[in-house]
Amino acid sequence: MPNESRYADECNSQPEARSPERPDKMEEACGIFGVYAPEEDVAKLTYFGLYALQHRGQESAGIATFAGEAIHHYKNMGLVSQVFNEEILSKLPGEIAVGHTRYSTTGSSLKVNAQPAVVETRLGSLALAHNGNLVNTKELREELTRRNCSFLTTTDSEMIAIAIGNEVDQGKDWLEAALTAFQLCQGAYSLVVGTPVGLMGVRDPHGIRPLVVGLLPSTSTRPARYVLASETCGLDIIGAEYLRSVEPGELVWITEEGMASFHWAEKPQPKMCVFEMIYFARPDSVVHDESLYSYRMRIGERLAEESHTDADIVIAVPDSGVPAAIGYAKKSGIPYGEGLIKNRYVGRTFIQPTQAMRESGIRMKLNPLRDVLAGKRVILVDDSIVRGTTSKKIVKALRDAGATEVHMKISSPPVTHPCFYGLDTDTQDQLIAATKSIEEIAQQIGVDSLTYLSWQGMLETTGEDINHFCSACFTGDYPITIPENVKRAKLILEQAKV
Ligand code: SF4
Repeated sequence: MPNESRYADECNSQPEARSPERPDKMEEACGIFGVYAPEEDVAKLTYFGLYALQHRGQESAGIATFAGEAIHHYKNMGLVSQVFNEEILSKLPGEIAVGHTRYSTTGSSLKVNAQPAVVETRLGSLALAHNGNLVNTKELREELTRRNCSFLTTTDSEMIAIAIGNEVDQGKDWLEAALTAFQLCQGAYSLVVGTPVGLMGVRDPHGIRPLVVGLLPSTSTRPARYVLASETCGLDIIGAEYLRSVEPGELVWITEEGMASFHWAEKPQPKMCVFEMIYFARPDSVVHDESLYSYRMRIGERLAEESHTDADIVIAVPDSGVPAAIGYAKKSGIPYGEGLIKNRYVGRTFIQPTQAMRESGIRMKLNPLRDVLAGKRVILVDDSIVRGTTSKKIVKALRDAGATEVHMKISSPPVTHPCFYGLDTDTQDQLIAATKSIEEIAQQIGVDSLTYLSWQGMLETTGEDINHFCSACFTGDYPITIPENVKRAKLILEQAKV
């Protein structure tokens, strides 16, 4: 219930290894949301904001609200719609709210690790929602331990909250405390931080993870009411107008006086995660002033320019491959069609009752259209291949439905390296492109040909400076130095080479 004792409950839910919705994809870490809106039902606004950001994390959800000095908070395991109901939301009053949906990247998938992380300070409570991953967690923990801070969870997010709280307790105000604490943090962090007097939105100096600011419709008698969200789809759902992105190395501080901006990093170097553009963020979200649907269509066109294959039909792996497949079809002149129908109602806990059903598991989610595919040479477009297990099943299903040829086109380059900045990737040895050539992958998944988009194609099509993106999972060129002890956990193959 709201106002639960902090971190007191144990949770019976077991972590699921990977969303059955997207079993062969990298998983986003988190969605974050915040609202400063006196006189509004901030908990309900946050509920809807998180609902729109659900694709960014499906393991747990939480909301903290501030009503003057009092904090109210509630979090639990499950989807946003499972965690909250009218009764719970009605017990979260206030003018300021912070919300979070989580997919665990550090700390196991337990309720105790769900966010927002709440910390008590001499100025009152602080609630922090984090998207990203710190790479210096060990050093930060040692530093905070040296300062006699204690921890209730195993997350890097709580450490950031504690670092800010510790600076407050040393005498600083909220703003000064946060700006000082960020000097201790290295890695990827987009943050929404609630306090009794204001709401902060922060992006790390590389701006790896997104964060946008919006405005709720206002009247002359009301002060401006601001919203922070991981993506613009979190603004759209509550009728907030998109104002702008929070910039890399920027802190926006929203209080009764309005929104103030502080650029606290000395040399911010924009390195937004390009995977957000290709796959993670929702296609209706706006990045660089256009919807990601448009970008994804253009990378499909670029893929067609880079590699032509004679075929009868272009189909997509739904839903993630659809815009690129439409772009590919448009550029190549080969008709686009729906060859795979997605069952949108497969639940997270669905257990397949027979071995045969488990083996053909993909049919639970995607069913091929025999009428469309039989006797056709098919171009199958998807946004990425991570492990290759799902691709193999899809290709077999297409052949079983009568496709005479299957040519796979991927609208990103081969994923060869793990992510350390807040996405759940396997260790390097589990990434199919890290251990196999393109020909070997084609053979393993059973296609007649396999083509990936070039690295230049992926970045040039953004229309932005290509140096302003992180693309390390395609190149191994990590923009934020990864300490050796962290590298060892995931860069298995590089270690073996040493
Ligand atoms: S390594 Fe890949 S997934 Fe991680 S931030 Fe960089 S581009 Fe994104």
